[in-house]
Amino acid sequence: MPFTLPALPYAFNALEPHIDARTMEIHHGKHHNAYVTNLNNAVAGKPEESLSIEEICKNISKYPVAVRNNGGGHYNHSLFWQIMGPNAGGAPGGALADAINAAFGSFDEFKTKFNAAATGRFGSGWAWLIKDSSGSLAITSTPNQDNPLMDVAEVKGTPVLGLDVWEHAYYLNYQNRRPDYCAAWWNVVNWNEVAKLFAK
Ligand code: MN
Repeated sequence: MPFTLPALPYAFNALEPHIDARTMEIHHGKHHNAYVTNLNNAVAGKPEESLSIEEICKNISKYPVAVRNNGGGHYNHSLFWQIMGPNAGGAPGGALADAINAAFGSFDEFKTKFNAAATGRFGSGWAWLIKDSSGSLAITSTPNQDNPLMDVAEVKGTPVLGLDVWEHAYYLNYQNRRPDYCAAWWNVVNWNEVAKLFAK
């Protein structure tokens, strides 16, 4: 099987009280695991089983919808676990902070715009901070398990931060209160990991 579920880099309860352990356990062990299983089934015996998930996303329009949904799900969640962590939150520094200030005016203004993208995404999807081809930062959102790497995305770029706004990401703890989940999520953003992605 070419694709595997990455281990969560912290305990299920590490993001409490902002994201509860039960949500993390189901989200990682059931939802993400299902995307991996279904992606492996969708690429089995085809040339794309030897490609990286990034390469698949960049040409996603060539593949069946099962690859788009489950490949996107695998890429998106792998990034999501990485950019969160315990004892996190606060604000970024260094080159990432400079780029955020250049693109959005201030860190607070960036958070306001990102929250608007996350709360305004109708139905299931993701909000993203991306680095575009010129190296500048931009905010976008995608439906379902699409992402900005995909050739079908309205706004394309390399994700450096992503927020899952599917109900499965927050419903146990926040029910219909997506804005409360989005507000609390800033407390678990691991800016060191985001800075690494930005520096790539
Ligand atoms: Mn999810």
